[in-house]
Amino acid sequence: MTEPVRELLIFGAGPAGLATAIAAQEAGLDYEVLEKGALVNSIYHFPRHMIFFTTADLLEIGGLPFVTPYEKPTQVEGLRYYRRATETYGLRVTLGEQVKAVRTQRPGRDGARFRVETVREEETRVRKARNVVASVGYYDHPNFLEVPGEDLPHVAHYYYEPHGCWRQQVVVVGGKNSAAIAALELYRAGATVTLVHRRDRLSDSIKYWIKPDVENRIKEGSIAARFGTCVEEIRRDTVLVRGPKGRDEIPADAVYLMTGYHPDPVLFEGAGVKVDPDTLAPAHDPQSLETNVPGFYVAGSVVSGKNTGRIFIENGRFHGEAIVKSILRSRGVNPRSLS
Ligand SMILES: Cc1cc2nc3c(=O)[nH]c(=O)nc-3n(C[C@H](O)[C@H](O)[C@H](O)COP(=O)(O)OP(=O)(O)OC[C@H]3O[C@@H](n4cnc5c(N)ncnc54)[C@H](O)[C@@H]3O)c2cc1C
Repeated sequence: MTEPVRELLIFGAGPAGLATAIAAQEAGLDYEVLEKGALVNSIYHFPRHMIFFTTADLLEIGGLPFVTPYEKPTQVEGLRYYRRATETYGLRVTLGEQVKAVRTQRPGRDGARFRVETVREEETRVRKARNVVASVGYYDHPNFLEVPGEDLPHVAHYYYEPHGCWRQQVVVVGGKNSAAIAALELYRAGATVTLVHRRDRLSDSIKYWIKPDVENRIKEGSIAARFGTCVEEIRRDTVLVRGPKGRDEIPADAVYLMTGYHPDPVLFEGAGVKVDPDTLAPAHDPQSLETNVPGFYVAGSVVSGKNTGRIFIENGRFHGEAIVKSILRSRGVNPRSLS
């Protein structure tokens, strides 16, 4: 079977990838979304009791209303909304297919500029496209502390739910939203929680309705906090830390390292996209989202590299429209003529 050449291959079915697919479909472009996991796989792996920070209207894609009785929707509602959006628009999404590498090639008669190597159920495949969009997010790549014991079975870089930690000693490492939320949920589910943070206070970026809650739990002694303290080693029952008073061991049945995430530059570098070595942000035009490699676009949170607090669903959902306009212009079509 000859591999079809797609006008557009979109990597990742998160909110940004799905919004790009809707824009492509509405413009009549031949596209396909390749998603390595489930639909909106990052949100699917968020904490089970998570409530979005933003109101539902700011999470909408393609103008489809996100209806909820709550001020801010839950993770479960988010999953249902993005399933519904995918069904409503009949988006072409292939799940369980991971993009492993992207190579540029001199366009032949079919105009294919990209060879995209993928794996699905251990089967490798090479797809071809004239344009590609990497909307792969950052959530699959935690920031490691790189301390001994980080790979022990009771250590996790993702927090999912608190029930299993009832009556256990838990160390949560970090000082931003994820650490604050995990510490509060674990404490309320009956765990004895110690929050360890390398800085001398919690981050100002913690949401205004979460920060006083965690600060007051620390003040009253319900959650123990070790500020200005770094983890040196994780052992089977303890975490070895160094703080203002020197070295100490904190008992721990479970350890959550809530130290953030970063995008993986490997797909970019293989295709010749320049990536800033400090920020891991791909070089791109802020208007069109096209990188230094013609036809290679970026969308969603991956755009800002390690600075994961700059692009959210709220603003990343508009990238797809800009990308589709740029592709249409490169084909000599005036995008306005389509509206
Ligand atoms: C706990 C938490 C709460 C949040 N709350 C909010 C909020 O309230 N409001 C808000 O606006 N933002 C929120 N965010 C941030 C928001 O979730 C992200 O900004 C958003 O998910 C980014 O969307 P995206 O489509 O760019 O990436 P993602 O949602 O991460 O989607 C990327 C997709 O690409 C797939 N993928 C990755 N690599 C490959 C590959 N090689 N091949 C194929 N597929 C691949 C992934 O499986 C994933 O499905 C929150 C984040 C967290 C962690």
